[in-house]
Amino acid sequence: MTHGTLGRLEDFGGNLVCIRFRNRNFLPRRAFFFYPSQHQPSSLAVQPGCLIDEAEGWVCRDEAGRTSVAGLYAAGNANQEVQLVVAAAAKGRVTALTINNDLWEADASSTER
Ligand SMILES: Cc1cc2nc3c(=O)[nH]c(=O)nc-3n(C[C@H](O)[C@H](O)[C@H](O)COP(=O)(O)OP(=O)(O)OC[C@H]3O[C@@H](n4cnc5c(N)ncnc54)[C@H](O)[C@@H]3O)c2cc1C
Repeated sequence: MTHGTLGRLEDFGGNLVCIRFRNRNFLPRRAFFFYPSQHQPSSLAVQPGCLIDEAEGWVCRDEAGRTSVAGLYAAGNANQEVQLVVAAAAKGRVTALTINNDLWEADASSTER
């Protein structure tokens, strides 16, 4: 059921009492759950040309943390759908291993010549 566009949240003594819509309809409520959208507040990834998922807001990358720009990697909130410290740290670990492996392979192939 659609009530209209959200107008404001009304409180009494700091506690939510009502969700008010722009058309003046309202719903008495004591709790309000919402899912905020995600976007990149920093242009750091865009400047070198990283592809950004326009719908989800994160830096496109493969599962190992590589971005669309060779030699540029991403981890944490910048490239994941969930915003949790533990998930950001886990992504950082995966990306760190990828960087290490990519450097090792580049080094190995340069010394083979
Ligand atoms: C209000 C709020 C509540 C949250 N609550 C929880 C919670 O309860 N539990 C949980 O697990 N997670 C929570 N999170 C999510 C959690 O904070 C993030 O998932 C986590 O911090 C992501 O880590 P990160 O290192 O990827 O990014 P960040 O912690 O955002 O670090 C990015 C860093 O880059 C810096 N930076 C940005 N642009 C530039 C630039 N141009 N130059 C230099 N530095 C730059 C920023 O200043 C920042 O220090 C919450 C987030 C918010 C906003």
